[in-house]
Amino acid sequence: MLRQYFATKCRYPGTLLAMRVGDFYEFYGEDAETAARALEITLTGREDGPNGRVPMAGVPFHAAQKYIAILVKQGFKVAICDQVEDPKTAKGLVERAVTRVLTPGTVVEGEMLDSGANNFLASAAPYEGGAGISFLDLSTGEFLVTEVAGDDAQERTLQEIARFNPAECLLPEEADELYGLLGKLVTTMVTRTPFASVRDAKNRLMRQFGTSSLAPFGLENMDAGSSAAGTILKYLDQNEVQAAHVDHLTTYSLDSRMRLDGPTARSLELVANMSDGGKRMTLRETLDFTKTPMGGRLLKRWIEEPLLEADQIERRLDAVEAMAASGLARDEIRGVLHNLSDVERLVAGAGSGFSNARDLVALRKNIALFPDLLAKTHRVGRGLIEDARKRIELCEDVLGELFRGLADDPPFSLREGGIIRPGYHHALDEFHRMSLEGRKFIAELEATERSRTGIEKLKVGYNSVFGYFLEVPKAQVAKVPENYIRKQTVANAERYITAELKDHEANVLGADEKAFDLEYRIFAKLRECVASAAARINRTARAIAEIDAVQSLAEAASMRGYVRPELVSCEEGGRIEIEGGRHPVVEAHKGLGAFVPNDTDLGDDLTLVILTGPNMSGKSTYLRQTALIALMAQIGSFVPAKRARLSPLDRVFARIGARDELASGQSTFMVEMTEAANILHHATPRSLVILDEIGRGTSTYDGLAIAWSIAEHLARRGTPTLFATHYHQLNALAESLPNVANYRVAVREDGEQVVWLHKVLEGGTDRSYGIQVARMAGVPRDVLRRAAEVLADLEGVARVPVEIAPPSPQLTLFREDESDIARRIREMDVETITPIEALILLDNLKRESAK
Ligand code: ADP
Repeated sequence: MLRQYFATKCRYPGTLLAMRVGDFYEFYGEDAETAARALEITLTGREDGPNGRVPMAGVPFHAAQKYIAILVKQGFKVAICDQVEDPKTAKGLVERAVTRVLTPGTVVEGEMLDSGANNFLASAAPYEGGAGISFLDLSTGEFLVTEVAGDDAQERTLQEIARFNPAECLLPEEADELYGLLGKLVTTMVTRTPFASVRDAKNRLMRQFGTSSLAPFGLENMDAGSSAAGTILKYLDQNEVQAAHVDHLTTYSLDSRMRLDGPTARSLELVANMSDGGKRMTLRETLDFTKTPMGGRLLKRWIEEPLLEADQIERRLDAVEAMAASGLARDEIRGVLHNLSDVERLVAGAGSGFSNARDLVALRKNIALFPDLLAKTHRVGRGLIEDARKRIELCEDVLGELFRGLADDPPFSLREGGIIRPGYHHALDEFHRMSLEGRKFIAELEATERSRTGIEKLKVGYNSVFGYFLEVPKAQVAKVPENYIRKQTVANAERYITAELKDHEANVLGADEKAFDLEYRIFAKLRECVASAAARINRTARAIAEIDAVQSLAEAASMRGYVRPELVSCEEGGRIEIEGGRHPVVEAHKGLGAFVPNDTDLGDDLTLVILTGPNMSGKSTYLRQTALIALMAQIGSFVPAKRARLSPLDRVFARIGARDELASGQSTFMVEMTEAANILHHATPRSLVILDEIGRGTSTYDGLAIAWSIAEHLARRGTPTLFATHYHQLNALAESLPNVANYRVAVREDGEQVVWLHKVLEGGTDRSYGIQVARMAGVPRDVLRRAAEVLADLEGVARVPVEIAPPSPQLTLFREDESDIARRIREMDVETITPIEALILLDNLKRESAK
């Protein structure tokens, strides 16, 4: 058996092999050690002749799924090796074979998936100057392909993969560079595998879809894309994964949707927050009023990929408006959606042969609701919603079959009967009748035999060794009739059987066994019936997802008081005009009315705003709300503002300074500069850039110089930009560049306290109120006192008239300055000095005079 184990294992390198032995799945050798560690189960061993003791670890087969899910979640691949012949009839060693390899990107089992997110298997086929990229979510049947080409193909490939955040990504063995880069970017499991040739890939795709050409999918001219997609199918094949429900594929262009890079999506907290990566306090949480898992997943995708083209955006906005306008229709629609479950994943379960009878009953319940949804959406059925309605198929044939075939409340197990509705299948009914008759006979036997024999205490019993028996107390044994055959003696009684009893028993057991077996086969047929209708049901599921996502945006709009954004066309550059804008997420958590609205006006003659103000005054909030409002508009959502006029932006960039990426071994400043470089390379006059505290990870003057030159560069290019900073010196930019303005977030000083007003006003400020904020944060009094002293000294130095000379700002002393320190510096015979050097000098001076 060990030889069988290790021989099988050779054929599945890089996987843990779980082999069915009796009631366990066993791991041996190194796999046993790995599994024992990962699962926290006992490691035992088994003697193997001259080879000594082989490590061994096992999990009970009835709980295997739970354990395997843990392994897959930890990033292992697990090959399941089952017995493929009946152990009862096998001669010698039972034949075993791998029936399934589970990998993070190919699982469909519910407990291994997160219902709120897709579980994508990605594949990238790079070539000189381009790449084909494909994504498949086996658990929903969604299959996507795109291609990139050009100088930045590699970068865009990486970005696209990162955007989908797949569970697993296939790369060709020779793609070393991409492999290295991808490893730094995502935590996805990367599997290197020989890629399908274009021809092999196309054949596999056509076979999968049952078509003779790939033209219907727009794939005929996409060789790299086909290779990427075909390799996914090849990989499924290698891992023995059934994918009957994957029956179509969608090609898409990267140009129709906005590319949000990782740092931007992260700093705007679109679908994951920055504190723990969860959903709390994100835009997604704020907008998510979806009622179905597929609607929730679609809304997440919409948020992650805002639209670029005005007519597409308007189409979504129209649908949201219609839905928002009719609260009654929306409530009714939400009522139906509420009763729907994860149709896509139920169909996928049937397609890959994993669903049980309860899954199909759930699907039946869902399909039965389709007509209701159609009726309830009638009133808002225009544009996008009408298109979605047209894609709803009632699938009455499947529904009828499931109603007739499946019992109302079948058990979880598929092998114990009770799944099929009586009257559906004649032979099955016959077995049930036989079983019932047999049972009835046995049930009545006690009474009939008692009266026939006069043994009042006669009992019918059952044990697993010899089945049904008649038990007679020792005292009445004399009355036992001739046809009783003695089988067993127990303490106070004798046990007998009769030929008639055994006949009936055989009928019962035989009929039951045949019935269970037949039920399973009938069920498998029903499951196939669903699988063969997968395309229709899935089309409907996607239409439902769209209706759900639209109603969610409408619900958010009406619950949270959003308005429809007005799109303006703007050829030369972006336009962002927001009156009374609010931060959707902060507002949602503070409660309506508790948020101070602010205006934004960017574009044309004003493209760069330098925003200053103390800590905690609301600078970041203001920056992010502007970016979020612009993105929400392009998602097709209403926006938190009194009024918003926006031109569709080509990109949005957001950078929040000073964040260590310790995990990837990069310093704060390096990360900041890499991200800044990306913006400077890609931002156009039709983009929006928000920069929060950029340039803080280095020495003050280095940082100021870099912040200065970045701001200046963006201003000269005319990219709409909001730049929040504590470098008040940047306010000087407005004097030299016409399209730059200074804003500040207002505060009121109240004794030693600062009162935050959160109001953005024109004009810069030169105070940061750092010490006041530190006091409010509870920094000890003597530290604060000392800080105030140092500040006074520093400001004393700063009062030495200075001039900032960008891009390398330093203090320059004016000749007529007569302060102590100025005189001392002149004695030193230097032209310039930094404030820190001046402070040290001042300290020395003080010490000298004290002496
Ligand atoms: P800064 O970037 O200036 O340090 P933040 O933008 O982080 O300040 O804001 C600090 C806190 O102030 C936020 O967490 C939020 O609770 C509150 N806040 C910011 N802006 C507003 C506003 N416009 N209305 C109400 N509260 C606000």
